[in-house]
Amino acid sequence: MFIDIHTHAILLHDPRQRRISRWTAPDELLQMWDDLGIARGVVLPLVHHEIGAILQTTENVLDIYNLYPDRIIPFCNLDPRWQYNNPNNDFTPILEHYKELGCKGFGEFVANLWWDDDRVLNLLSHLEKVGLPVLFHVASKERGQYGLIDDYRLTKLEFVLKTFPRLQFIAHSMGIWSNISGDANEENWMGYPTGPVTPGGRLIELLRTYDNLWGDISAGSGNNALVRDKEFGFRFLEEFQDRLLFGTDICGFGQEVPQVDTMNEALASGLLSQEGYDKIAYKNAVGLLGL
Ligand SMILES: [Zn+2]
Repeated sequence: MFIDIHTHAILLHDPRQRRISRWTAPDELLQMWDDLGIARGVVLPLVHHEIGAILQTTENVLDIYNLYPDRIIPFCNLDPRWQYNNPNNDFTPILEHYKELGCKGFGEFVANLWWDDDRVLNLLSHLEKVGLPVLFHVASKERGQYGLIDDYRLTKLEFVLKTFPRLQFIAHSMGIWSNISGDANEENWMGYPTGPVTPGGRLIELLRTYDNLWGDISAGSGNNALVRDKEFGFRFLEEFQDRLLFGTDICGFGQEVPQVDTMNEALASGLLSQEGYDKIAYKNAVGLLGL
């Protein structure tokens, strides 16, 4: 059984939108989950203008949740620049409102702002207060990318992990997963580095140091980190079995999803225990999201 921590689907209320939306429809998402053996999962609203031509409200995800309450786990989302681009907006009432409506977390946070931007810090402080975990994507620069901006050593991420110790950070994207290995550098960290993992990965250091950091194994980035050096990757799953979450990052119908095979291969190798497998597959999500 799997719980998927990371997907995207939009309920198009207006068929004209189909011409500019590349995102999965809710029934397509369920069909893909059925084929993969995924019982249920999170749908992440796409609210930030950096992400695409079709934006999605939290209410749209709640509509999908109301159609399929047994399968959809809604997250809420907002942009720290909303409400007059203020660094001191009180986002707590909105977040509490979405929590009451059933939202279990926040994200995908992809605003192309620095982690230590005053508007981002303000939003993170409200997320910590309300108690919603944040799932995020990392960028290396402004423009041409989406996600919170950091350097390849993830210095800014470390700063927010330290600043908000009660906020649970769910890490995703190339910039995170290239750092499983000590050879991540300025040139390769936003890509999909291959070859043996070398000691000293920043992600590993941060996971060992900060217990509010979680890893979402979704997307090409998460899977690549686990299979580029399978012995290392499968041992990594075992070591961090309490802080990793199964996910796919399904965005469009028919997309390839390698994570189920990777998990099964790790189990078959004997390097990942059944207990660790079950935690990553669904038990950690149940605990973290309070399902
Ligand atoms: Zn995503």
